[in-house]
Amino acid sequence: MRIVVLPGDGIGPEITAATSVVLRAASERFQLGVSVEEHAVGHASLEQFGTTVRPELLDSVRTADGLILGPTATFDFKDEARGEINPSRYFRRNLDLFANVRPARTYPGRSTRFGAFDLVVVRENTEGFYADRNMEQGNAELLVTPDVAISLRRITRPCCERIAHAACKLAMKRRRHLTIVHKANVLKIGDGLFLDVCREVARSYSGLAIDDVLVDAMMAHVVRQPERFDVIVATNMFGDILSDLTAELSGSLGLGGSLNIGAHYAMAQAAHGSAPDIAGKDIANPISLILSMALLLSWHGERAGAPRFEEAARAIESAVAAAMRDGQVTRDVGGSRGTAATGQAIADNLNE
Ligand code: NAD
Repeated sequence: MRIVVLPGDGIGPEITAATSVVLRAASERFQLGVSVEEHAVGHASLEQFGTTVRPELLDSVRTADGLILGPTATFDFKDEARGEINPSRYFRRNLDLFANVRPARTYPGRSTRFGAFDLVVVRENTEGFYADRNMEQGNAELLVTPDVAISLRRITRPCCERIAHAACKLAMKRRRHLTIVHKANVLKIGDGLFLDVCREVARSYSGLAIDDVLVDAMMAHVVRQPERFDVIVATNMFGDILSDLTAELSGSLGLGGSLNIGAHYAMAQAAHGSAPDIAGKDIANPISLILSMALLLSWHGERAGAPRFEEAARAIESAVAAAMRDGQVTRDVGGSRGTAATGQAIADNLNE
């Protein structure tokens, strides 16, 4: 398995290094034969090559078996004409990574302010309110006058259908419960279409329980009773916001794994951003990217018919759970270890 690794900005290089330690340990223990090809992206690439993402990287990723993208300082990248491209958007769009799968769960032995739960947010990843990627050409945000801004959202039946199928397939492998999150009471046309299509698709999965919740009420329900949910499907922006909340409910934003999946490619990414406030201090939690990498191994194993990759992914999740239980983790989740030491503890757990 050849994996392209792009460390990114802020805490990106630190959490990517910790993830690579765990990946190497998993590759050795399960004989995965993983090889890694690392390139600069974000500010490092802008300084070196005059662009945050070189187009050659797309070819490398297309011929590889997976991509690990560290968080990048997307808020800094405002002018594409100056090479300031949002790398996350670039790969999601060019590789048509339409499903963003974001699991969130609590860990035995680590108390949180809320109850135990295990859920997955499946977020549509290619359209919705993301104005920088929902048009064939141009940007769907318009400045009509200096004081008038318009942001357009795109919702299409094919994108709703494919994300609904992705969510239903996942739910069928879990507790067979799908919750559709929407705002169809106000966005009657756009979210109305999303809700109708998701319901239609979900009804074709026999034995799948379906319900739906308005996105604003969802914020209360998921805080009050997170254990009530199994797989949650949402449009792009609602899913993005909701999955940060569910990661934080599980103990920290730094625990939120995230895999972006298309028909042919997958990109592992931390659910959080580049966290410049804690960059370079060896305190960032690497677990989000480690869990995302495990999701990538599992995705590859399923496609390649190679169960040892899925076994390795499960072992990484158990090694993370053991590190959480034993407090061999960063301080955001109650431990006292640094980023690198947390990665090492998880790698050591894998070998036990
Ligand atoms: P952020 O997600 O980087 O940080 C939010 C808060 O969570 C901060 O207090 C941070 O310290 C904390 N945090 C985040 N990750 C953590 C971790 N692994 N361990 C411990 N604490 C963690 O959000 P932000 O500060 O609003 O954004 C910073 C930059 O990241 C911006 O440029 C933004 O555009 C970008 N961003 C990038 C991505 C991406 O690359 N996919 C996603 C979101 C934001």
